[in-house]
Order: sequence, then C-alpha cells, then structure tokens
Amino acid sequence: IVFGMVTGILFGTYLQWLMPNGTDKLIPLYWFDLSLKGFIVDGLLEIIGQIFMASLRMLVVPLVFVSLICGVCSLKDTSKLGRIGGKAVGMYLITTAIAISIAIAVALLVSPGEGVNMTTDSTFESKEAPSLAQVIIQMFPTNPFESFAQGNMLQIIVFALLFGMAIALSGKAGERIAVFFEDMNIVVMRLVSILMNIAPYGVFALLASLFTTVSLATFGNLIEYFFVVFFVLLMHAFITYPIILKILTGLNPFIFLKKMRDATIFAFSTASSNATIPVTLETATKKMGVKNSIASFTVPLGATINMDGTAIMQGVATVFIAQVFSQDLSLADYLTVVLTATLASIGTAGVPGVGLIMLAMVLQQVGLPVEGIALIIGVDRILDMTRTAVNVTGDSMVSIVVAKSEDQFDNDMYSDPQAGSNSE
Ligand code: ASP
Repeated sequence: IVFGMVTGILFGTYLQWLMPNGTDKLIPLYWFDLSLKGFIVDGLLEIIGQIFMASLRMLVVPLVFVSLICGVCSLKDTSKLGRIGGKAVGMYLITTAIAISIAIAVALLVSPGEGVNMTTDSTFESKEAPSLAQVIIQMFPTNPFESFAQGNMLQIIVFALLFGMAIALSGKAGERIAVFFEDMNIVVMRLVSILMNIAPYGVFALLASLFTTVSLATFGNLIEYFFVVFFVLLMHAFITYPIILKILTGLNPFIFLKKMRDATIFAFSTASSNATIPVTLETATKKMGVKNSIASFTVPLGATINMDGTAIMQGVATVFIAQVFSQDLSLADYLTVVLTATLASIGTAGVPGVGLIMLAMVLQQVGLPVEGIALIIGVDRILDMTRTAVNVTGDSMVSIVVAKSEDQFDNDMYSDPQAGSNSE
C-alpha cells in the first residue's frame, strides 16, 4: 500500500510533466495514436480508482450494521452502552476543541493571511448550521431502510444499537439471531480483507490521477496557508495524540503510529473517513487489540462526529480569511469558532470536501465573508486528504482509550508487531 502510494504520486507527477497545463500527449501505437489523457488518466486510472472507492463505500453500511449488532450483543451488560457512548463522545469533542484551539493559536502566530491581496469573484453558498436539537432529532430514523440507502451513519448507528439491545434481551430467539450476525460479521470482515488485496492498485490509481493536476508550484499566495494547516495537522497526529494516548493508557505511542499506517494511507487516498471505516475497524480490532464491542461503535461514530483534522483546517482558514479581508476577530469570536466547528462536526458525514461546508457555517457565525472559501478551495484537496488521515487517527486513538478504560482491550495484540498482517 505504501508502494502504491509513492509510485502513484510519482507517476501522476510525471504525467503532469508530460502534459503541461492539461494538454494531451499522443503516443504512437502501431497504426493509431494513444491519447495519454484520454486512455491513461481519464480511462484506466479513473476506472480503477473509482471502482476501488466504490468497493470501499459498498462495505461501509453492511459492515457498520453487522459489526455494531455483534458488538452490542457481546457486551452482555447493555447498560454499559450509555457509559461507553458518553466517554467516546466526550473524548471526541474534547480532542476536536483542542485541535482547533492549537490551529488558531499557530495561525495567529504565523499570520498566513497578512499582506495577502486576493480578490474573488466566485461565490460560495453556505448552509445554515443545524441546531443541536435538530442534529439529535435527526439521529433517529423513521425508516431504517432509507437510512441504509442514504448511508446515514448516525441513524444506522442508533438503529443497530437498539436492534442489538433487543437481540440481547430476547432470550432464545435473540441467541439464534446473534449467531447469525456473528457469522455475517466474519463474512463481511472477510470481504474487507479481500479488498485489502487490491488496495495497492486502488491507492496507486487514485493518487496518480489526482497528481496529474495538483502541484505545489501553483499554490502561490496560498502556500503559507497550506503549510500552516499541514504543519498543525502533523503536530496533532505526531505530538498531541501520542501524548494523550500515553497519559491516558500508558501504551507506547510509536506502536500506535506504526499500526495506523495502512488506515491513514486509505484515508489520504480517498479523502473520506466514511469510506475508510472498513480499514479503520480492521486496524482497531485486528492490529491494535480493541475489542469489537467497543470499536464497532466508536469507529463509525468517530468517522461521523470526530474530525480533528477538519477542525484544524477551519481554525487556520478562519484566521487566514479574517486577515485577508482585514477584519479583526475578538476573543469571543474565536471561542465561537471553536464551539461552532466542534458542534458542526457532529452532524456532518466524513466525505470528501465536507470540511468546506462546515467552514461556511463557522465563517457565518463570526460574520466573515463566506466567499473567502473560494480563495482556499484551490489548495483544499491535498489538505482534505491529509486532514482525513488525521481524522481517522483520532478515531482510533479514542477507540483505544475507551476500550482500555472498559477493559475491552488486548494488550498482547497491541504489542505484537505481526498482529493483523496476515489477515488475508
Ligand atoms: N474529508 C474529511 C473526512 O472525511 C472531511 C473534510 O474535512 O472534508 O473526514
């Protein structure tokens, strides 16, 4: 997978060099000319990349539903659920608030928007931030099949939790159904392992096709903004998380970072924490030692409500846009930013580019021009990919902390470097 990532980036950059400014290049092949752009980029790479994305996303709904039901059934004492949920949500919100606070602080120090003169004629439509009441009400599905069809993660989680609890409380009938779901879980997890076999090609294709268009050289005025976000993202992943993990669990954070590698590459290539759920779940349960009873709940929940990386982008972007438009923000404004960004992440799914929609809500709350988003859109893709990698790292870290505190953690698996590596 690492090889796929590196060669994908290099190959994409090479193609870009072969076809400057998007011009096509024809390669003579026997009696006709092969279009590099049409055949390789828009053809082969696009097909392989999109099929790979689709197969990942295909697994998300069945996997979350089945594994969460198994998780609830295996808890035995379903009254623990409230406590586990409380811990997970609490940690998700706190880590997000920490992330955005660090981002704002670093951005204020570096002032990436100072002296930048940019105009924008494009507009960006903003949506109203949903109220907390709305978010809570919408977590309850009226028709579970509709939730499945739309991939509405919070509704699927609520339905699976209730269903799992009912199974646990239904005596003999419940036991029979539980066995069915346990078997299903093994089958769906198998499908994940099978997909992992084609992952290197998928990662290669996604990154190669992306890097035919992206290059740092075109970032111009935005380069400073880009690097501030990038730097804080790395800081959060390599300093904040390891410190929290060490303090709360005493585990060796280097092992954690090493075992996160595949999941972060998936997140990076797909820019979607939702699509990465199968891999994050596999990493948490088969490599890290988090029991399915915790991970089946915390991982999909985290993919939806925990977006530390996204919050970091929003913190830096707010400061940047305020500086570009020469508007001063007060301390109260910054607190509003922290609060809005943290709450906005609850109701928004982890799919590519959603961070910008959340940013629109944040900007509106503090009276900054929403058009500012048009300024940073050009460099957002790579940042989206990087922050998604941070998002899933956060989900896994919190899963470990919760699992450890609930005694649902396998220490031996965590310290075994080979764990999960031969799951195919
Ligand atoms: N793509 C991110 C995710 O899926 C969300 C975002 O920041 O746009 O986690």
